[in-house]
Amino acid sequence: MKNWIAGAPYRGDRDAIEVLNPATLAIVGDVEACDALALELAVNAARKAQPDWAADEAARCTALAEAAKILAEHRDEIAELISLEQGKPAPQAAREVAGCERGAVWYSQLEMHSEVLRDTDTQRIVAQRRPIGVIGVIAPWNFPVTILGMKVWAALRAGNTLVVKPAPTTPLSTLRIAELLGAVLPSGVFNTVTGAGELGGLMTTHPGIGKISFTGSTQTGKAVMAAGAETVKRLTLELGGNDPAILLDGVDLAGVAPALVRSAFYNAGQVCQAIKRVYVPRALEADLIPLLVKEANDFITLGSGQDPRTTVGPVNNAMQKDVVTRLVDAARAEGAEIHQVGTDLSADLPGYFVRPVVVSGVTNTSALVADEQFGPALPVVAYDNLDELIDHLNEEEYGLDASVWATDEGHALAVADRIRAGQVFVNSHAGPPEPEIPFGGVKGSGFGREMGRTGLDDVTELRILTLAKAVS
Ligand code: NDP
Repeated sequence: MKNWIAGAPYRGDRDAIEVLNPATLAIVGDVEACDALALELAVNAARKAQPDWAADEAARCTALAEAAKILAEHRDEIAELISLEQGKPAPQAAREVAGCERGAVWYSQLEMHSEVLRDTDTQRIVAQRRPIGVIGVIAPWNFPVTILGMKVWAALRAGNTLVVKPAPTTPLSTLRIAELLGAVLPSGVFNTVTGAGELGGLMTTHPGIGKISFTGSTQTGKAVMAAGAETVKRLTLELGGNDPAILLDGVDLAGVAPALVRSAFYNAGQVCQAIKRVYVPRALEADLIPLLVKEANDFITLGSGQDPRTTVGPVNNAMQKDVVTRLVDAARAEGAEIHQVGTDLSADLPGYFVRPVVVSGVTNTSALVADEQFGPALPVVAYDNLDELIDHLNEEEYGLDASVWATDEGHALAVADRIRAGQVFVNSHAGPPEPEIPFGGVKGSGFGREMGRTGLDDVTELRILTLAKAVS
C-alpha cells in the first residue's frame, strides 16, 4: 500500500515496512517508509492546498459529509484491515470505522461561530476562529481509525490541511482511508507519511507544521513538547492514562463486576481510557475477586481477530507484549496472586498473545499498579482510607479518567468532585468517544481536547478583529 501525498500515491525509494498480523505474525501488507524528502513533499502539498481549502466553508462541510458516506460504503473492508494489522476482532474494528464516520458527519454539521465582544457607535470587536494551517497528526496503534477520526475531522472542518503519520504497525487502514478520501478532498488536503525512528521528530520540529496532535505515551509526549518549542508549535497531547475504578463501601459488587471487566479487557486492555486498576474497600476484596474472575472467564475468549469466537485479540506488537509480561511477572515475584482468566484459543498461534489476568494482593508500590500497563491485566488494590486514596491518586502523574462506583449516588458524586482527571464517571467508565463530548487529560495525561466544540477550538487560533467605525 502507498502513502498518499499531494493527491497521489507516493513512490519513493526507501525500504518497505512490513505490517504483521499480531496473531499469526504473517505479513499482511507493506508500506514504503517515508523519509525527510517525503515529509517535505507532504508539508509543501498541505501548505499549498490550505488557503483554498480554508476559503470555502460550504465545500468543506460537503466534503466531510461525503467522506462519511465513503467510509460507510467501505466499512467492512477497512474493518478487515484494522483487524489484520491491529489484532482486534473484526466486529470491534467495524465499530471503530462507524464511530469515525459519525465524527465526520457531526463536524460537517457544526457551525463555526464568531463572537461579537463589543458593538458600539464607534467600534465593533469580533473574536474569530481561524485555522492554524498545517496540522501534523501522530497517531497510535491501539485504535488506528477511531483516533484518526478524533484528530482529523475537526481539523479539516476548521480549514486546516493535514500530514498524518500512522503508527508503523497499523498504517494500512489509514492509507486506505487516505486513498478513499482522495475522491472527495482536494489534492494536498490529506497527506500521509509512514515511518519509524525519525519521522515523528522531523514533524515535531518542522517549521511548516503549525500544530502537532499526538496520542501516545507521556514520555514521548514530553519529547514532542520539547522538540516543538523551537517553532512554538501548538500542541494537543493525549498521553497515557492509568484509570482507577474506585469502589465505595456498600457498592453492589455483583452488579458492577461485568462493567469493570469489559472496560479493563476490551481491545486487550490497549485503551488509554480502560480501567487499569480497581480500588476496593479492604472488607470487600475477598468477595470481589471471584466475581471479577467469573465475569472475565465469561467475557474473554483470547484468540485471533479473524476467529469469530474471539472477544480479546493479541496485543499489537512485541514491545507491548514485553511491557505487560514484565509488569505481571514483577507483580508475581512480589507475591501477588495471579488469576488467569478467559478461554484461550491462542495456543497454536505464534503472535503477541498475553494471557489475561486478574491480579490480587498488590499495592500502590507495585509497578503493575503505578505504571500504565496497557494490556489485559487488571490489578485489584484493597484500600483502608478513602481520603488517603484520593490524595494519592491526585498526586500521581496521570489524570485521564477515573470512575467511582457506589449505590449511594450522592456520596459517589462527592468523591468524584475531588478527583483530578479529564473525565470522571459515576457508576460507569469511559465508552467509545462521541463526537459531541470533548475528551482529554490533565496533569501528565496531556492537555488540549479532541471532539466537541472544544475540539474545534483547539485546531484554530483566536483572532480578534477590531473595526473602528470612524477613523480614530
Ligand atoms: P509512543 O507513545 O512512544 O509514540 C510513538 C510514536 O511517537 C511514533 O509514531 C514515533 O514516531 C513518535 N515519536 C517518537 N519520538 C518523537 C518525537 N520526539 N517527536 C515526535 N514524535 C515522536 O508509542 P509506543 O508505540 O512506543 O508505545 C509506548 C507506550 O505508549 C505504550 O506502552 C502505551 O503505554 C502508550 N500508548 C498510549 C496510547 C494512548 O492511546 N494514549 C496509544 C499507544 C501507546 P517516529 O518513530 O517516526 O519518531
